[in-house]
Amino acid sequence: MPDLVPPPPSGTYDDPAQERLYRKQRLAAALRLFSLFGFEEGVAGHITARDPEDTDTFWVNPFAMHFGHITVSDLIQVNSAGTVISGDRPVNSAAFAIHSQVHAARPDCVAAAHSHSLHGKAWSSLGRLLDPITQDACAFYEDHALFDDFTGVVLDTEEGKRIAHTLGDAKAVILRNHGLLTVGHSVEEAAWWFITMERSCEAQLLAEAAGTPVLIDGEAAKLTQNQIGGHFAGQFSFQPLLDRILREDPDLLD
Ligand SMILES: [Zn+2]
Repeated sequence: MPDLVPPPPSGTYDDPAQERLYRKQRLAAALRLFSLFGFEEGVAGHITARDPEDTDTFWVNPFAMHFGHITVSDLIQVNSAGTVISGDRPVNSAAFAIHSQVHAARPDCVAAAHSHSLHGKAWSSLGRLLDPITQDACAFYEDHALFDDFTGVVLDTEEGKRIAHTLGDAKAVILRNHGLLTVGHSVEEAAWWFITMERSCEAQLLAEAAGTPVLIDGEAAKLTQNQIGGHFAGQFSFQPLLDRILREDPDLLD
Protein backbone atom coordinates (compact mmCIF):
# COMPACT_ATOMS: atom_id res chain seq x y z
CA MET A 1 0.00 0.00 0.00
CA PRO A 2 1.48 3.43 -0.92
CA ASP A 3 2.43 5.81 1.89
CA LEU A 4 0.41 8.91 2.59
CA VAL A 5 2.02 11.98 1.04
CA PRO A 6 2.17 14.68 3.74
CA PRO A 7 0.89 18.18 2.97
CA PRO A 8 3.49 20.26 1.12
CA PRO A 9 5.54 22.35 3.57
CA SER A 10 4.58 25.53 1.72
CA GLY A 11 1.97 25.95 -0.99
CA THR A 12 2.41 23.08 -3.43
CA TYR A 13 5.05 20.49 -4.27
CA ASP A 14 7.54 21.47 -7.00
CA ASP A 15 7.17 17.97 -8.42
CA PRO A 16 3.72 17.81 -10.09
CA ALA A 17 3.61 14.01 -9.71
CA GLN A 18 4.00 14.39 -5.95
CA GLU A 19 1.41 17.18 -5.81
CA ARG A 20 -0.98 15.07 -7.92
CA LEU A 21 -0.67 12.09 -5.60
CA TYR A 22 -1.10 14.34 -2.55
CA ARG A 23 -4.36 15.71 -4.01
CA LYS A 24 -5.66 12.32 -5.17
CA GLN A 25 -5.07 10.73 -1.78
CA ARG A 26 -7.11 13.49 -0.07
CA LEU A 27 -9.79 13.13 -2.74
CA ALA A 28 -10.18 9.39 -2.10
CA ALA A 29 -10.18 10.05 1.67
CA ALA A 30 -12.83 12.78 1.33
CA LEU A 31 -15.05 10.45 -0.71
CA ARG A 32 -14.74 7.72 1.94
CA LEU A 33 -15.72 10.28 4.57
CA PHE A 34 -18.73 11.40 2.50
CA SER A 35 -19.80 7.74 2.51
CA LEU A 36 -19.20 7.45 6.26
CA PHE A 37 -21.42 10.50 6.83
CA GLY A 38 -24.16 9.19 4.52
CA PHE A 39 -23.90 11.94 1.91
CA GLU A 40 -24.68 9.60 -0.98
CA GLU A 41 -27.94 9.47 -2.93
CA GLY A 42 -27.64 6.83 -5.62
CA VAL A 43 -25.19 8.03 -8.26
CA ALA A 44 -25.31 11.71 -7.25
CA GLY A 45 -22.35 13.53 -5.75
CA HIS A 46 -18.83 14.36 -6.82
CA ILE A 47 -15.65 15.83 -5.43
CA THR A 48 -13.07 17.17 -7.87
CA ALA A 49 -9.40 18.13 -7.59
CA ARG A 50 -7.64 20.20 -10.23
CA ASP A 51 -4.60 18.53 -11.80
CA PRO A 52 -1.45 20.44 -10.77
CA GLU A 53 0.11 20.18 -14.23
CA ASP A 54 -2.79 20.10 -16.72
CA THR A 55 -4.68 22.74 -14.80
CA ASP A 56 -7.75 22.73 -17.04
CA THR A 57 -8.32 19.06 -16.15
CA PHE A 58 -9.57 17.61 -12.89
CA TRP A 59 -9.69 14.32 -11.00
CA VAL A 60 -13.06 13.02 -9.85
CA ASN A 61 -14.85 9.93 -8.58
CA PRO A 62 -16.14 7.72 -11.42
CA PHE A 63 -19.84 7.65 -12.26
CA ALA A 64 -21.92 5.14 -10.27
CA MET A 65 -19.08 3.92 -8.04
CA HIS A 66 -19.90 3.84 -4.34
CA PHE A 67 -18.01 6.54 -2.39
CA GLY A 68 -17.20 3.93 0.22
CA HIS A 69 -15.30 1.73 -2.24
CA ILE A 70 -13.16 4.37 -3.95
CA THR A 71 -9.40 4.07 -3.92
CA VAL A 72 -6.79 6.47 -5.31
CA SER A 73 -6.35 4.31 -8.41
CA ASP A 74 -10.11 4.43 -9.16
CA LEU A 75 -10.12 8.22 -9.64
CA ILE A 76 -10.51 9.44 -13.21
CA GLN A 77 -9.08 12.53 -14.91
CA VAL A 78 -11.41 14.59 -17.11
CA ASN A 79 -10.40 17.31 -19.58
CA SER A 80 -12.17 20.55 -20.48
CA ALA A 81 -14.16 18.78 -23.20
CA GLY A 82 -15.55 16.27 -20.70
CA THR A 83 -13.41 13.40 -22.00
CA VAL A 84 -11.93 10.90 -19.55
CA ILE A 85 -8.17 11.02 -20.23
CA SER A 86 -7.00 8.84 -17.31
CA GLY A 87 -8.92 5.86 -16.02
CA ASP A 88 -11.36 3.52 -17.69
CA ARG A 89 -14.65 4.43 -16.06
CA PRO A 90 -17.17 7.08 -17.18
CA VAL A 91 -17.63 10.54 -15.72
CA ASN A 92 -20.96 11.71 -14.29
CA SER A 93 -22.32 14.27 -16.80
CA ALA A 94 -23.52 16.55 -14.01
CA ALA A 95 -20.08 16.42 -12.39
CA PHE A 96 -18.55 17.68 -15.62
CA ALA A 97 -21.27 20.30 -16.28
CA ILE A 98 -20.93 21.86 -12.84
CA HIS A 99 -17.34 21.28 -11.76
CA SER A 100 -15.67 22.17 -15.08
CA GLN A 101 -17.28 25.60 -14.90
CA VAL A 102 -16.53 26.12 -11.20
CA HIS A 103 -12.87 25.20 -11.74
CA ALA A 104 -12.68 27.52 -14.77
CA ALA A 105 -14.25 30.42 -12.88
CA ARG A 106 -12.16 29.92 -9.73
CA PRO A 107 -8.49 29.47 -10.68
CA ASP A 108 -7.63 30.07 -7.01
CA CYS A 109 -9.47 26.87 -6.05
CA VAL A 110 -8.03 23.36 -6.21
CA ALA A 111 -11.19 21.48 -5.30
CA ALA A 112 -14.98 21.50 -5.34
CA ALA A 113 -17.43 19.23 -3.52
CA HIS A 114 -21.11 18.56 -4.14
CA SER A 115 -23.56 15.91 -3.01
CA HIS A 116 -27.23 15.47 -2.25
CA SER A 117 -26.69 15.22 1.51
CA LEU A 118 -29.94 15.12 3.48
CA HIS A 119 -29.84 18.31 5.54
CA GLY A 120 -28.20 20.34 2.78
CA LYS A 121 -30.95 19.49 0.33
CA ALA A 122 -33.68 19.99 2.94
CA TRP A 123 -32.27 23.43 3.74
CA SER A 124 -31.85 24.25 0.04
CA SER A 125 -35.60 23.87 -0.49
CA LEU A 126 -36.18 26.92 1.73
CA GLY A 127 -34.35 29.18 -0.72
CA ARG A 128 -32.47 30.95 2.08
CA LEU A 129 -28.89 31.58 3.10
CA LEU A 130 -27.72 30.12 6.42
CA ASP A 131 -27.93 32.47 9.39
CA PRO A 132 -25.12 32.93 11.92
CA ILE A 133 -26.87 30.96 14.67
CA THR A 134 -23.80 29.03 15.90
CA GLN A 135 -20.05 29.54 16.05
CA ASP A 136 -19.62 26.91 13.33
CA ALA A 137 -22.18 28.50 11.01
CA CYS A 138 -20.16 31.72 11.12
CA ALA A 139 -17.63 30.08 8.75
CA PHE A 140 -20.22 30.88 6.07
CA TYR A 141 -21.13 34.38 7.26
CA GLU A 142 -21.13 36.67 4.20
CA ASP A 143 -19.20 33.87 2.46
CA HIS A 144 -21.84 31.79 0.73
CA ALA A 145 -24.38 32.36 -2.00
CA LEU A 146 -27.82 31.12 -3.05
CA PHE A 147 -28.41 29.80 -6.57
CA ASP A 148 -32.08 30.72 -6.57
CA ASP A 149 -33.17 28.57 -9.48
CA PHE A 150 -33.82 24.95 -10.36
CA THR A 151 -34.29 23.71 -13.92
CA GLY A 152 -33.68 19.96 -13.64
CA VAL A 153 -30.52 17.86 -13.54
CA VAL A 154 -27.53 20.03 -14.48
CA LEU A 155 -26.27 18.52 -17.75
CA ASP A 156 -25.44 21.74 -19.60
CA THR A 157 -22.20 23.63 -19.01
CA GLU A 158 -24.19 26.89 -19.42
CA GLU A 159 -26.05 25.99 -16.22
CA GLY A 160 -22.72 25.15 -14.58
CA LYS A 161 -21.50 28.58 -15.63
CA ARG A 162 -24.49 30.24 -13.97
CA ILE A 163 -23.80 28.30 -10.77
CA ALA A 164 -20.13 29.35 -10.88
CA HIS A 165 -21.18 32.96 -11.45
CA THR A 166 -23.50 32.84 -8.44
CA LEU A 167 -20.76 31.27 -6.29
CA GLY A 168 -18.59 34.30 -7.10
CA ASP A 169 -15.60 34.43 -4.76
CA ALA A 170 -17.41 32.68 -1.89
CA LYS A 171 -16.56 29.27 -0.37
CA ALA A 172 -20.00 27.76 -0.91
CA VAL A 173 -23.27 28.00 -2.77
CA ILE A 174 -26.67 26.60 -1.84
CA LEU A 175 -28.33 25.20 -4.96
CA ARG A 176 -32.09 25.67 -4.40
CA ASN A 177 -34.06 22.39 -4.36
CA HIS A 178 -30.82 20.50 -4.97
CA GLY A 179 -28.07 20.70 -2.33
CA LEU A 180 -24.76 22.25 -1.39
CA LEU A 181 -21.55 22.95 -3.28
CA THR A 182 -18.30 24.04 -1.67
CA VAL A 183 -14.84 24.96 -2.93
CA GLY A 184 -11.38 25.27 -1.40
CA HIS A 185 -7.73 25.99 -2.03
CA SER A 186 -7.15 22.34 -1.12
CA VAL A 187 -9.20 19.14 -1.30
CA GLU A 188 -9.19 19.07 2.50
CA GLU A 189 -10.67 22.56 2.66
CA ALA A 190 -13.46 21.94 0.11
CA ALA A 191 -14.38 18.67 1.85
CA TRP A 192 -14.36 20.24 5.30
CA TRP A 193 -16.60 23.14 4.24
CA PHE A 194 -19.04 20.63 2.80
CA ILE A 195 -19.10 18.51 5.94
CA THR A 196 -19.51 21.43 8.33
CA MET A 197 -22.02 23.22 6.06
CA GLU A 198 -24.20 20.11 5.96
CA ARG A 199 -24.11 20.08 9.77
CA SER A 200 -24.89 23.79 9.95
CA CYS A 201 -27.94 23.16 7.77
CA GLU A 202 -28.98 20.39 10.16
CA ALA A 203 -28.43 22.67 13.16
CA GLN A 204 -30.56 25.47 11.72
CA LEU A 205 -33.32 23.06 10.72
CA LEU A 206 -33.34 21.64 14.27
CA ALA A 207 -33.23 25.07 15.90
CA GLU A 208 -36.02 26.52 13.77
CA ALA A 209 -38.16 23.42 14.33
CA ALA A 210 -37.87 24.01 18.08
CA GLY A 211 -38.13 27.79 18.24
CA THR A 212 -36.57 31.01 17.07
CA PRO A 213 -32.77 30.91 17.19
CA VAL A 214 -30.90 33.91 18.56
CA LEU A 215 -28.65 35.35 15.85
CA ILE A 216 -25.03 36.19 16.53
CA ASP A 217 -24.63 39.91 15.87
CA GLY A 218 -22.89 40.97 12.67
CA GLU A 219 -19.66 42.15 14.27
CA ALA A 220 -19.16 38.94 16.27
CA ALA A 221 -20.17 36.84 13.26
CA LYS A 222 -17.58 38.60 11.10
CA LEU A 223 -14.88 38.15 13.76
CA THR A 224 -15.74 34.45 14.05
CA GLN A 225 -15.73 34.10 10.27
CA ASN A 226 -12.17 35.42 10.26
CA GLN A 227 -11.20 33.01 13.04
CA ILE A 228 -12.64 29.78 11.64
CA GLY A 229 -13.48 30.51 8.01
CA GLY A 230 -10.04 30.91 6.41
CA HIS A 231 -8.29 28.59 3.97
CA PHE A 232 -5.84 27.21 6.52
CA ALA A 233 -8.54 26.71 9.15
CA GLY A 234 -10.57 24.72 6.63
CA GLN A 235 -7.64 22.55 5.65
CA PHE A 236 -6.55 22.00 9.25
CA SER A 237 -10.07 21.11 10.41
CA PHE A 238 -10.08 18.16 8.00
CA GLN A 239 -7.00 16.58 9.62
CA PRO A 240 -8.73 14.60 12.41
CA LEU A 241 -11.19 13.18 9.89
CA LEU A 242 -8.33 12.19 7.60
CA ASP A 243 -6.60 10.46 10.51
CA ARG A 244 -9.80 8.59 11.30
CA ILE A 245 -10.54 7.39 7.78
CA LEU A 246 -6.93 6.32 7.17
CA ARG A 247 -7.05 4.18 10.29
CA GLU A 248 -10.46 2.69 9.45
CA ASP A 249 -10.09 2.42 5.63
CA PRO A 250 -6.35 2.20 4.87
CA ASP A 251 -7.09 0.55 1.50
CA LEU A 252 -8.27 3.93 0.17
CA LEU A 253 -4.60 4.64 -0.66
CA ASP A 254 -4.39 1.72 -3.11
ZN1 LIG B 1 -26.41 17.36 -7.73
